[in-house]
Amino acid sequence: MTGDIQQVLKRTFGFDSFRGVQADVVERVMAGKPTLAVMPTGAGKSLCYQLPAVAREGTALVISPLIALMHDQIRSVEASGIRAASLTSADDNREQTLASLRAGDLDLLYVAPERATTDGFRRLIERIPLSLIAIDEAHCVSEWGHDFRPDYRLLRPLLDAFTNVPRLALTATADARTRADILVQLGIPDDGLVIAGFDRPNIRYHVRPRDGLPGQLKSLLASQPGAGIVYAPSRDQTERLAETVAAGGRSAVAYHAGLEPQIRARNQAAFVQSEDMVVAATVAFGMGIDKPDVRFVAHAGIPKSIESYYQETGRAGRDGDPAEAWLFWSAEDFARARRRIETEVEPERRPDERERLNALAAFVETAECRRAILLRHFGDDPPATCGNCDNCIDPPATVDVTEVARKLLSAAFRTEMRFGVAHLAQVLAGDDNEKVRSFGHHRLSVFGIADADELALVRPVARALIARDALRADAYGGLSFGPAARAILKGEEHVVIAVPPARKRGSRRRTPD
Ligand code: ADP
Ligand code: ZN
Repeated sequence: MTGDIQQVLKRTFGFDSFRGVQADVVERVMAGKPTLAVMPTGAGKSLCYQLPAVAREGTALVISPLIALMHDQIRSVEASGIRAASLTSADDNREQTLASLRAGDLDLLYVAPERATTDGFRRLIERIPLSLIAIDEAHCVSEWGHDFRPDYRLLRPLLDAFTNVPRLALTATADARTRADILVQLGIPDDGLVIAGFDRPNIRYHVRPRDGLPGQLKSLLASQPGAGIVYAPSRDQTERLAETVAAGGRSAVAYHAGLEPQIRARNQAAFVQSEDMVVAATVAFGMGIDKPDVRFVAHAGIPKSIESYYQETGRAGRDGDPAEAWLFWSAEDFARARRRIETEVEPERRPDERERLNALAAFVETAECRRAILLRHFGDDPPATCGNCDNCIDPPATVDVTEVARKLLSAAFRTEMRFGVAHLAQVLAGDDNEKVRSFGHHRLSVFGIADADELALVRPVARALIARDALRADAYGGLSFGPAARAILKGEEHVVIAVPPARKRGSRRRTPD
């Protein structure tokens, strides 16, 4: 790297050296080479286009999907004396921005893809020297990605109209297939791919079945100092969790899109400054927040995908000190996610979404190293054990529950696939009660075929079968076959699960969550 670049790094950004692949990426962009940088959250993607934007002649165009992200970025670069602006529906200084742009007074111009792809915008930038075009959150261009945005597809003609301008695509979340697709969609050659290692060795991963969340959270917080984020699936839940945490004596706030903007800003600011506050938030929280000393991230339910999980847990421990990630899941989370896929997702995208959810299920269910599964998903080739996840630290015993799984599947089948796990357990137990009788289920071949040991495993097995899509639960808990049921019933596939913690501890009763 030339001395000039080092100087810009130090003078403008205040950094002594590049981190990881930043040097590679910046060097490529300075040399005008098209590049896709895949770097985990916190690895410092912004610098990869901000530095060349300062060091090269002209204005850098930054395509970004979210106005809030653009404004965060602009605020942060302006503090370094960089000249930046955005052209969005939320900006009322349009004329001023256009004037600065035409006068060559902008280092960075942020726009959303919808605007970038209009003819008017094209005409505007044709008359301006461009230093580079950066495409942030580039996975949005891919249908394989978890956040496909059709407008990103329309960027290609724009890029191709400026072949002399270096293009730099950036993303934190791309598995191998999405990555390959981004290259194709944005016209970047294979050798333009730069990948940073995805491992976050200081984050310790823990996964638990949800088993009375308030209690689980309480014991987590009792042994967990420092600031933390608890992600919850709904606004209501964030508020309830914040109250629960506050009642336990820890300062806590809620954060979600339904709060008044001033309250949201106040809660965020309080969290960023604090050393032990807990924010109970929807996933809207965290984007663009720069708090290096978040000590833990807990999920009160499953995240949207394994990519989101990686990104959300990645907000912990950016300072490199030890940090914890906790995930509390239930079969109902998976059942709901499956129902959403089958009813709300366009049919042609369903197979891909199912696969994504299966990847998350595998991560959640494994008795092996969590980090290894996570990193393999991102195309890394990690060692088999990491020594810093729940399964590596305290390897769970495993049980082959194939027989119980087959009995449960048979019971679901014989009862016409509309009863929940409680009823199926009663049938398998041979519980001759009124409800069982009223359906004539006491006469079925599956009536009373499970012994006490097997019955104790019915719920964890149901959970495992739902997670891996062998059973699907309707909104009332009624269980029917999913695509993975057949191979298990036919004995072609074994079901092995970690011995459920409640059983390992002995006496504790499982309470519904
Ligand atoms: P990403 O967008 O990849 O999540 P950011 O661009 O927000 O990451 O950078 C994360 C943090 O790392 C920021 O606080 C940034 O100032 C810091 N950072 C970036 N590059 C360097 C560097 N070379 N040296 C030290 N800190 C850096
Ligand atoms: Zn591990």
